[in-house]
Amino acid sequence: MEAVKEVRLSDRQLFIGNEPSAPHSGQYFATINPATEESIAQVAAGDREDTDRAVRAAHAALASKEWSGMDATDRGRLLWNIADLLEARTEEIAHLETIDNGKPIFESQYVDIPLCVNVLRYYAGWADKVHGATIPVRGENLVYTRREPVGVVGAITPWNFPLLLAVWKIGPALATGCTVVLKPAELTSLSALRFAELCAEAGLPAGVLNVVTGKGSVVGQALVEHPLVDKIAFTGSTEVGKRIMQTAAGTTKRVSLELGGKSPNIVFSDCDLEAAIRGAHNGIFYGKGEVCAAGSRLFVEESVHDAVMEGLVARAKRAVPADPLHPKTRMGAIVSEAQQKTVLGYIAKGKAEGATLATGGEAVKINDRGFFVQPTIFDHVTPEMTIAREEIFGPVLAVIPFKDEAEVIRMANDVKYGLAAAIWTRDITRAHAVAARIKAGTVWINMINTYDAAAPFGGFKESGFGRELGENALEAYTETKTVWVNLKG
Ligand code: NAP
Ligand code: MG
Repeated sequence: MEAVKEVRLSDRQLFIGNEPSAPHSGQYFATINPATEESIAQVAAGDREDTDRAVRAAHAALASKEWSGMDATDRGRLLWNIADLLEARTEEIAHLETIDNGKPIFESQYVDIPLCVNVLRYYAGWADKVHGATIPVRGENLVYTRREPVGVVGAITPWNFPLLLAVWKIGPALATGCTVVLKPAELTSLSALRFAELCAEAGLPAGVLNVVTGKGSVVGQALVEHPLVDKIAFTGSTEVGKRIMQTAAGTTKRVSLELGGKSPNIVFSDCDLEAAIRGAHNGIFYGKGEVCAAGSRLFVEESVHDAVMEGLVARAKRAVPADPLHPKTRMGAIVSEAQQKTVLGYIAKGKAEGATLATGGEAVKINDRGFFVQPTIFDHVTPEMTIAREEIFGPVLAVIPFKDEAEVIRMANDVKYGLAAAIWTRDITRAHAVAARIKAGTVWINMINTYDAAAPFGGFKESGFGRELGENALEAYTETKTVWVNLKG
């Protein structure tokens, strides 16, 4: 195989008030291409002072009303312009995403960035459609409601869909007139910084979108504590989410949390088996399994177990890890060495606890470089095993055979998470009945891992609360004000 190409960018500063800005500490950290183990760029290590400066810029932009007071139609048009600029830069930004995260260019170019564009256009359309109501009440009074921007939003995002998960927050925040301080994951800050530059180029007023790169425990923590931040929109692990809730209590900030998952994918014997096998493969191996909604627990009805395993293993063996920048690659590099270690640790646990390793299980290097892991499938997993309970966030599938519908529903719901689920069957009654009984924010029937800007997404149970995307997300970025008018004079 050809060597994976190396790319080196100039230092990346913070982005505050529409300007690149040097970090207060003067410190930078390296961001690594996980396919080559080379440093791509030095990124500013923001600290509390930088966070405070960005929050004050966002607060001043909010107070000036230049953004929230702009005609809503014009705000929508500006969002649309940002979408156009991003679309025109798809190749450039998809490339950044791939060298920073290790995901196949096929995914960044044809899925991540196009979805970002769709989400921005969708919320551009909402900008002039968010309004209150007049409400009939007792007495001679007029009561109406106003939907006002919640204020300064602190957005904290993970490394698996770096720009997309930021845009899920920025889209509805900007449409409703909020201002934003974004803290991207330290591992993948590049696309967010570039996006903020594009927003400035499109004419977004200074201070409306600021990006502070740096550590979660420093910048993230400072954002959550900051009294001028009105709301935190967080995507990441359940552990950090819980901590954010506790810290946010200090200022009763609004919080929305999109957290981890261990999503069940249920294959009934009457389904289109070929489609289910393809879905099971993509459900876990798309995005290297670093997908919060990954179908990481595959429940297979006993009578079709052997056929499903045969098809799955054959597919997995073909999905050989390769250069993420090659257009034909479908299995990229794990985001970091630490994450690769975590994934390999779970694989070792799966073996130690008695699951059958059906394929994969090994770390891979390309030309002696890169944090790749083979697509891995464990068979005969039981619900108590660690690999059936904990989120691995890597290309590792746990296959659990089942006997009947009641048993599979019980097992599917028996984890602390409730983000998503998929069901494969030709029986429409069963499909809807099972969909109603699964405790998850999204259920796919005869499909998996499909998203749309208009369809709400979020978790039950410890997968978080609040919904992103769709009309639902607008709730999270507005406050309702009730105005009473005495009509008696
Ligand atoms: P993570 O460790 O929770 O980090 C998420 C973000 O929070 C990062 O920007 C991180 O910064 C920051 N952070 C860390 N400590 C913080 C603190 N004390 N206060 C404020 N912010 C803090 O998660 P991850 O490892 O990046 O991502 C993987 C997790 O995200 C998985 O559990 C996955 O399920 C979840 N996820 C969920 C969804 C969803 O929609 N439900 C989508 C994608 C991912 P640094 O990393 O820079 O330190
Ligand atoms: Mg990186």
